Formats: sequence, C-alpha cells, structure tokens
Amino acid sequence: MDTTTALTAEHRQEINDWFDSTEHLADDMPVAEHVATRLSDNIDAPERTGQGTGGGSRSTGPSAKQLAFLDSLLLKATDEQAEAARNVASLKGGERPTRQQASDMIDHLTKAMPRLASDKQIDFCRSLAESRNIDFGEYDSFDEFVAAFDNGLTAKIASALIETWKAQPVDMDKAVAAAPVEHGKTYADDSGTVYVGKISKTGNPYCVTEDGEYVGQVWKSATNFRTHETAILDDGWYEGPNGEIVKVYVSNYSGTQIAKILNTDVANRSEQWTRNDKALRWDLVPMSMERALELGSIFGICVRCGAVLEDDNSIAAGIGPICATKGF
Ligand SMILES: [Zn+2]
Repeated sequence: MDTTTALTAEHRQEINDWFDSTEHLADDMPVAEHVATRLSDNIDAPERTGQGTGGGSRSTGPSAKQLAFLDSLLLKATDEQAEAARNVASLKGGERPTRQQASDMIDHLTKAMPRLASDKQIDFCRSLAESRNIDFGEYDSFDEFVAAFDNGLTAKIASALIETWKAQPVDMDKAVAAAPVEHGKTYADDSGTVYVGKISKTGNPYCVTEDGEYVGQVWKSATNFRTHETAILDDGWYEGPNGEIVKVYVSNYSGTQIAKILNTDVANRSEQWTRNDKALRWDLVPMSMERALELGSIFGICVRCGAVLEDDNSIAAGIGPICATKGF
C-alpha cells in the first residue's frame, strides 16, 4: 500500500494559486521553504507503512513533506530537468526514492528551476513603470526590457524591481497618459453597467459605480469595456416609467447631457427640479406637447419652467403666460 501520495489535486491547486498570487512578494523566504510550510499546514502526516517489512525503510524513507515538495517541483519541471534530477539521485524510473535520494533531487531541482515571475508580478511591474520615470537604458519600454531576459524574468528580480520602483515618485502626467480610463469619464460594459473612471493621487487607475462605490480595475474582467456616451437622447421633455416629467438637455457649462425631474408635489418641494442623470437611461418616452400641457394642467405647474401656476387660465392651459409665448 502506498500512502505517500499525500499531494492531492487540491493541494496542487493551492500551490499553483499561491505561485500566482503576490503573497510571497513580501519577504525573501526561499520558495522551497514557503511550499514546505504551506504543505505541512495542509497535509496530515500519512500513516506509517511497511510495518513488518523491515525497520530499515522507516529511518531511510522520505518524509511525506519531502515527497510532497518533490512532487510539487516535478510538477513544474521540464522532462529534461526531471530526468537530470533522477540521474543525480541515481534513481531508476518508477522507483520510490530514499530520503537521501529525495533530498538530492530537491536540491538539484530548486537550483535548476529559478522560479519565473508570475503574470501578476509582471503586470504590477509594468503598471509601476508606467506611472514612474523608470530608465530602461538601451530598451525603449518595459516589455522590451523584460524580453531581454533570455531565460525569462525571475520572481526574485521582479520582486526587487517592485520594491525599487514602488519607492520612486509618481509622475502624474505619465500615470494619466498610461491609464486605461480618464478621471471622471463614464464607461460601460456589454451588460450596460456604467462605471466612472478615476485616477488616484498615486497614479493608480480604477473605477467606481455611478453611486461612487469602489469596484477597482473592472476593465480587466469586463467584456467590451468602452467609453459611455451620456448624450444619448434628443434634448426635450420625456415621460418616465412612473409618470415622471423629465427634462433632458445639454449643459452649457459641462457640455454633457443632463436630466432633471420635475417635482410635482407643489406643497412639499424645496426645488422645482431635481437633477438625476441616471434618468437618461430610464425607459423614457418623448413627451408630446399635448401630453405635457395635460400634465401641467393636472399638477398646476408650468411644464416648461416648473413654476407653480396661479392664474386659472394658466392652470387650465398647463403653461405660464410667458412660457406660452416661447414655445415648447
Ligand atoms: Zn413657465
């Protein structure tokens, strides 16, 4: 019975997740130690086997931790590296290594396989380089610089770059130019969700919802992330899904289209109109002049300007005398 295969698919997944995460950036602990620590946290020691087959195998057999770690290394090794490790340990194919052989293989593999930087590390390096004045010497860009490493950028070097570049001051002009969103501009994905782009004081681009809730770098996971045009309607009066009277027009100040809703509760209103740009995406129906005047008459409000009507003739008309001369 072989109880040494303690490294389950779940453990492999966890190790791979850990490799992909940036948790290990904080310190210089060798990767072997990290993995061993994680495994010893997660793997119960296998039951002793081989009772009665001779006490010798008990003292010379590899520990479960050792085998699990060796397994994790072999998982990432090339065929050549694995072959070389077996040769170093004089291990024949399919044979279970002794403690010494396992140790020799681990030693060989950890030296032969410098861990490469993860995609997340490289992305992080790139974003730091884009927001700071980093001198790449003979190389024109971060990507050219990375490509110059014949055997790939290792995690150790990436870690050092991150530490160094993080300490460099942010060049806001560069950060803004490189950011995939503009501060204050609206964006949408295919599901119609609207986001507002932001750039932090340290040059970090991110998004918030229309309600200002932080949602981070949504463009990375959003489908067809694109700028969202707010000027989507013809200027004019509209009726909302619940009978709201909505006035839509392009602001002279900002140049963007805005929406105001008429407060029809004349007795309890502090302002005539309430600005609500979200109404631009409601299911709005263009309001005919007849319908507008009808509503004005019902509420006793001039639908053109929002003023309360006093005169009986004006109330009957649904529009004030001055506004009536200006057209709808
Ligand atoms: Zn009026």
